[in-house]
Amino acid sequence: MISVEEARTLLMDLVSPLETEDVPLAEAAGRVLAQDAVARRMQPPFSASAMDGYAVKAAEVEPHAMFKVVGESAAGHRFDGKVGPGQAVRIFTGAPVPEGADFVVIQEDVTRSGALITITDQPSDNHNIRPAGGDFTEGQAVTAPRVLAPADIALLAAMNIPAVTVTRRPDIALISTGDELVMPGEAPGPDQIIASNTFGLKAMLEAAGARARILPIARDTESSLKMAFSLAEGADLAVTIGGASVGDHDLVGKVAGDLGLERAFYKVAMRPGKPLMAGRLNSRAMVGLPGNPVSAMVCGALFLVPMVKAMLGLPATAAEPMQATLAEPVSQNGPRQHYMRARVEAGQLTAFPNQDSSLLTVLAGANALLIRPPHDPALAEGETVRYLPL
Ligand code: AMP
Ligand code: MG
Repeated sequence: MISVEEARTLLMDLVSPLETEDVPLAEAAGRVLAQDAVARRMQPPFSASAMDGYAVKAAEVEPHAMFKVVGESAAGHRFDGKVGPGQAVRIFTGAPVPEGADFVVIQEDVTRSGALITITDQPSDNHNIRPAGGDFTEGQAVTAPRVLAPADIALLAAMNIPAVTVTRRPDIALISTGDELVMPGEAPGPDQIIASNTFGLKAMLEAAGARARILPIARDTESSLKMAFSLAEGADLAVTIGGASVGDHDLVGKVAGDLGLERAFYKVAMRPGKPLMAGRLNSRAMVGLPGNPVSAMVCGALFLVPMVKAMLGLPATAAEPMQATLAEPVSQNGPRQHYMRARVEAGQLTAFPNQDSSLLTVLAGANALLIRPPHDPALAEGETVRYLPL
């Protein structure tokens, strides 16, 4: 059995960054920028007023000073003249500051009578002017790789970049296996349960930037599983769920082998998730996840999400472990790395008493996976532990 780290390394060897495509900015949120995007202009393109008020010469600003208003500069409509000594231009937020002026007195600090204004309140030192290029300059880049957040989209729009080059979303095929499974919404027979793993994994992988397809459930026969693999053809990554242990009905290893799987590994020293398998099938990546719902989700978070990141051209790091203090003791760990479902509140971690890998309620109630290295001794309340946030 290999370690979690060895498994991760072997899985990364199965994937590489995908090709790029251009998308309109309005569809770029959440995508991974694959090429630096370069500002086509500076912002603001002129020195602009930050307030509604009067543009004057800073040297003339003092209480009781009077100015003659000689014009107006509004957003989108500059004042073409110059501001001379003793003169002011009525100005609004976002409007170009006229030549000759280097201070905007806010309107609250003046009284106006006809074309005359008088400074009635001591203005603050703030000139209320946004310098040209104060936000960004022409040629400034948003650098790749980067997951485009809403603020990035706004910035790219301001840079006058209507489309960006992003990495194609990985196409992932998800195959549930088992005679006992039906789809949510169907009427299960007395011995049946609902296929939940594909739905949880689809949500997880799409949140990571992939496109995931839930294929029809494969029955526990070789022909049904072969059919499912044929539907997965062309996917960047085919993921099977279940059927990967050594039970009489666990056919994934056999069928994938018959179809030409070059196996990278089988079995990882971890809990939950020991019967994990992976390899290359028709020059694409294939991962066989264990069927127990919590195992499938934990393996998805630990292994599939980093694979998605690698395909997107992002650093394929696993989530960084964080530290917390044990609120309650935990018993000694066995020979496999254990990811215990836990809750962290205000830096205090409590592991759930029942760690059965079929319990989705426990997983859904968890916000952390406590990492227990192989043979970790029993730990007392108050000890520092490492966990992965969920
Ligand atoms: P297996 O590895 O096929 O023996 O499955 C292990 C356990 O996980 C069994 O209890 C299965 O019923 C369950 N299981 C397998 N696949 C799924 C699935 N897609 N959704 C929910 N439970 C599953
Ligand atoms: Mg099964």
